[in-house]
Amino acid sequence: MKELTFALIGNPNCGKTTLFNQLTGSNQHVGNFPGVTVDKKEGRVRSHPDVVVVDLPGIYSLSPYTAEEVVSRDFLLHGNPAGVINIVDATTLERNLYLTLQLVELRIPTVLALNMMDEVRANGGYIDVAAMEAELGIPVVPISASKNEGVEELCSRAIRAAREKALPRRVDFCTGEVHRAIHSITHLVEQKAELAAIPARFAASKLAEGDPLMADSLHLTESERHLLEHLLSEMEAAHGMDREAAMADMRYTYIEKLCAQTVVRPGDTKEQLRSVEIDKVLTSKFWAIPIFFGIMVTIFFLTFGLIGPFLNSIMEEALDLVALGLSGALVRWGVNPTLRSLVLDGAFAGVASVLSFLPTIVTLFFFLSLLEDSGYMARVAFVTDRLLRRIGLSGRSFVPLLIGFGCSVPAIMATRTLASERDRKMTIRLTPFMSCSAKLPIYSVFTLAFFPKHRALVMCCLYFGGMLVGILYGLLLKNTAFKGNPIPFVMELPAYRLPSPKSVLLHMWEKAKDFLVKAFTIIFVASLVVWCLQSFDFGFNPVDDSSRSMLASVSRLIAPIFIPLGFSDWRAATALVTGLSAKEAVVSTLSVLLGAGDAELPTLLAGFFTPLQAVSFLTFTLLYMPCVAAMAAVKREMGGWKAAVSLMAQQTGVAWLVALFVYQGGRLLGLG
Ligand code: GDP
Ligand code: MG
Repeated sequence: MKELTFALIGNPNCGKTTLFNQLTGSNQHVGNFPGVTVDKKEGRVRSHPDVVVVDLPGIYSLSPYTAEEVVSRDFLLHGNPAGVINIVDATTLERNLYLTLQLVELRIPTVLALNMMDEVRANGGYIDVAAMEAELGIPVVPISASKNEGVEELCSRAIRAAREKALPRRVDFCTGEVHRAIHSITHLVEQKAELAAIPARFAASKLAEGDPLMADSLHLTESERHLLEHLLSEMEAAHGMDREAAMADMRYTYIEKLCAQTVVRPGDTKEQLRSVEIDKVLTSKFWAIPIFFGIMVTIFFLTFGLIGPFLNSIMEEALDLVALGLSGALVRWGVNPTLRSLVLDGAFAGVASVLSFLPTIVTLFFFLSLLEDSGYMARVAFVTDRLLRRIGLSGRSFVPLLIGFGCSVPAIMATRTLASERDRKMTIRLTPFMSCSAKLPIYSVFTLAFFPKHRALVMCCLYFGGMLVGILYGLLLKNTAFKGNPIPFVMELPAYRLPSPKSVLLHMWEKAKDFLVKAFTIIFVASLVVWCLQSFDFGFNPVDDSSRSMLASVSRLIAPIFIPLGFSDWRAATALVTGLSAKEAVVSTLSVLLGAGDAELPTLLAGFFTPLQAVSFLTFTLLYMPCVAAMAAVKREMGGWKAAVSLMAQQTGVAWLVALFVYQGGRLLGLG
C-alpha cells in the first residue's frame, strides 16, 4: 500500500508536538509557550510504519503573517499531504475552530482531534462529538495527547479517511451577503484555480478576505481583478463591514452556533482560575520584574553555588580515574611517548576539560525547563514587553532571546516567529549577546581559578553584563539603523501547568546530548589539531618548548591586538580563535596549551593570568563574535554573508571596546 503523509495542523500551544511525539515516539521539544516549533518535522508513526506525520508551526488562520506560518500554509497547499489532522484545544474551542473552517475548504481528507479532553472532563465540561461530526462533516475524535488517550482511534480514523479519500462533506458555512459574494467569486476563478492547483472554494475565500497573495498566484487578469473588486465592494456595502471583518464575522457566527449546540462549557477550568490567581502576583505591575530577577538569581546560586560544584567534583574524580587507567594502559601496551602525549595531553585533556562541566549545564537546564514548561516564561515575555519596547523590540522577541541562553542557532531560527523584518533583523543582532551555554565551561573554570568564593556572583555579573551590553547596543540600533517601532505584541498566555517529568528530563537530555556530541567531535578534533600544531615547528620537528611551535608563530601575528586588553600571550589568542569552532574549545585549548590535566587547569590559569586580565579575557569571550554554526544560521536567516560578516565585525568590535574599558578602567583603579 502507498505511504500516507499527514499534516498536523493547529493553533500554537494546542498540543501538536505532544501528539507528534506520542505518535512517532520521537522526542521533539514541547514547551508551554507559542513559537517553539518553527520548522516542519517529519516522523513515522510507530504503530503504522507506512504512515508519516509532519509537525508544523502553529497557525491561527491560513493567511500567513510570519515566516513560520508560511511554512505551514505552503505544506498544505504544495506538500501534497494525504490527509490533515487538525488538532484543537478543546478548552478554547471557539477560537480554535476558526482555522478548521478554513482547512475544510482545502479539499483534503481532514480529521478533527479534540485535544486536552482530560482538562475538559476534569472540569465538568462535555462535548457532543457525534453532533459536531454531523454538523462539520468531518470525523471528530476526542483525545488527550499527553495522556495518550484516543490517539490510536484518531490514527485509524485518519488513515481510513485518507485511504477512502473521504473529503469533508461540507464547505459552505456562509450566509447572506457573504454567501452570495463567495459563490460568485468561486464561479469567477474556478478555471484559474484549477490551473494553479488550488481548491476553488479556498481561493474564493482568500480573495474575499482580500488576500493579495492569492490574486497573484492565480494570475488573475486586470478585468477579473476589476470584477472581483466590484463584487467585494458590493458585499462590503451590503454588510456594513470591510471584507476581512465580514469573513471573520461569518465564521465566528457559525462557530458560536455550533458550540451552543454541541458544547457544555465547563465555565473557566480549574487551571484557568488558578492561573488568574497566580498571575495577579507574578505579572503584577510592581512585582513582575523583581520576581523574575529573583527567580533567575536563585537559579544561578543553586546551579553554580550549590549543586553544580558538588556534581562537578564527582565528575572530575571520575575523569581522573579514567585518565589514570588510560595512561596506565598506554604504558603497558608500550605505546610510543609522542603518541601517548597526543592521546593524553591532546585529545583527553581537551575533551575532559569540557566534559567536567556537563553536570552544571544539565542542572541549569533542569531549572530553565521547569520555568518553561510551567508556562512562566510566557508571562515573562508578556512582562518584558514594556522593557523591550524601550530598546525598540516587543515581547515577542523575548522567546528567541531566551532560547539564546541555550544556543544561538535555534534562537536565531526562532526569530521566524516575528512578523516584521525590522523586528526580526534586530533580534538576530541582539541574540548573540545572550550568553550561550557553550560559554559556561569557560566561566566555570575561570571563576574556579580566580574567584572560588564568589562564583555564582561573578556568573550573574557575566550574564547580566551580556544583557546590559545587548540593551545598550539595542538602543544604539533603535536610534540609527533600525528606526521605527516594533509591531504590537499579542501573545496568548497558556494556563499554568505542572511541568511533566518526562518533558523536563527530555529537555535535560537534549542539552546533555548536544554537549556530549560537541565534546567528542569538534572539541576532540580541535584538541588534536591544537596539540599537533603546538608540538611541531614548520619543519615538522618536534619542539620542546611550544613557544617555538608553528602555532605560536601564527598566533603571535594576532596576539598584539589583545595587548591593550591585557592579555598578549599567544596562547590566549589561540584559545579565542579555536573558540570560533565552538566556544567550549576556549577551555579545551587552554587546557592543551598549558599542559593541564583537567583538575589542574584552574591552578595553572591562576598563574597564567592576573585576576584583572582574567576579567578582561572573560569579558571579551562573553561578547565577541559567535561560533561558526551560529554565523551560518545568521547567514541563512538574514539571507547573505554580507549581513553575517557585518554582524561578526560589529560584535567583535563591541567586545574589544568593552574589554578595553574593563581592563584599562581596572588599571586606573589600581586593581592590577
Ligand atoms: P504545540 O505548540 O501545539 O506543539 O503544543 P505542545 O505540544 O508544545 O503542548 C503545549 C502544552 O500543552 C504543553 O505544556 C503540553 O504538556 C500540554 N498538553 C498537550 N497535550 C495535552 C493534553 O492532552 N492534556 C493536557 N492537560 N495538557 C496537554
Ligand atoms: Mg510545537
